[in-house]
Amino acid sequence: MRVLSGIQPSGSLHLGNYFGMMQKMIAYQRQEELFCFIANYHAQTSLSDGKVLARGTLEAAANFLALGLDPEKSVFWVQSDVPEVQELTWLLSNFTPMGLLERCHSYKDKVAQGIKPNHGLFAYPVLMTADILLYQSETVPVGKDQKQHLEVARDIAIKFNNEYGDIFTIPEPDIDDNVATIPGLDGRKMSKSYGNTIDLFLDDKPLRKQVMRIVTAPIAVEEPKDPDACNVYKIYRLFLNKEEDEALRARYAAGGLGFGEVKQELFEKIRDTFAPYTERRKELLADPDEIRRILAAGAERARAFAWKTLRKVRKKTGLVY
Ligand code: ATP
Ligand code: MG
Repeated sequence: MRVLSGIQPSGSLHLGNYFGMMQKMIAYQRQEELFCFIANYHAQTSLSDGKVLARGTLEAAANFLALGLDPEKSVFWVQSDVPEVQELTWLLSNFTPMGLLERCHSYKDKVAQGIKPNHGLFAYPVLMTADILLYQSETVPVGKDQKQHLEVARDIAIKFNNEYGDIFTIPEPDIDDNVATIPGLDGRKMSKSYGNTIDLFLDDKPLRKQVMRIVTAPIAVEEPKDPDACNVYKIYRLFLNKEEDEALRARYAAGGLGFGEVKQELFEKIRDTFAPYTERRKELLADPDEIRRILAAGAERARAFAWKTLRKVRKKTGLVY
């Protein structure tokens, strides 16, 4: 099975990205054909500082490698190193009804938040569709926030195939219910653009500070509490096995559990879980040329797959004369 997914290098990696998509994706490399990329074109819809984007791209690559992505067992590259994806975006644009994009929640949410919409933000799902279709992906592991974009990709692929024959594989989303939407500090979806994240690779002090900022209800320590209504629990449970989860739920129900106490435990859990990866990430970032070498080799492999598709599409659409 061919699995593809990407992440924007638009800010620090957070628990939502990790549990929503990365953890599962990295596990796929053992049995499946994994395509994994850094979506730097996409990040440009929210980031204009070139230096920040360039640095973020190296860091995003280091994140994946530190967490165990093996560039030998997967195809791992930076989106803009295979610029052919932009040509496919254009070709797909002609099969993308305006209404399809106008209905996208992600676009509407950003506009509602006061972001001035431009064409890049509007066309974001078409570029994402091109990423998916260019590599003939069968499955796309994502968080629930990307579900609608996957439907857009399917719609466009079907429309295109109806016109030209079976060119594209129709992709399926791969979303796990229990990690579909990881809540952030304020209970909304954890998101780089909402500034409500808990980040993976922080020093102790700023990490503890983030955890302590998780919003909780004003309930006295001695009162019993409902874990399912608690943001601390909703994040903590991601780290627990079944028995540990039941034990924590029992402590909530019994009363006498303070939010400060449980936040401190959560902080220690996050720190201990990611400490080895943090070290590895530092080592990787100390040698950026090695990261560049890995990414260049990945781009070369990705490009060979891309051309297999693009050649067919160019021919069908009349660009080969
Ligand atoms: P932005 O706010 O800039 O969109 P983001 O935090 O949503 O950033 P992305 O790079 O857009 O991060 O997403 C990378 C992947 O992580 C996607 O597959 C997305 O579905 C997933 N993801 C992001 N946030 C969450 C979350 N809170 N819960 C589950 N999955 C998430
Ligand atoms: Mg997002």
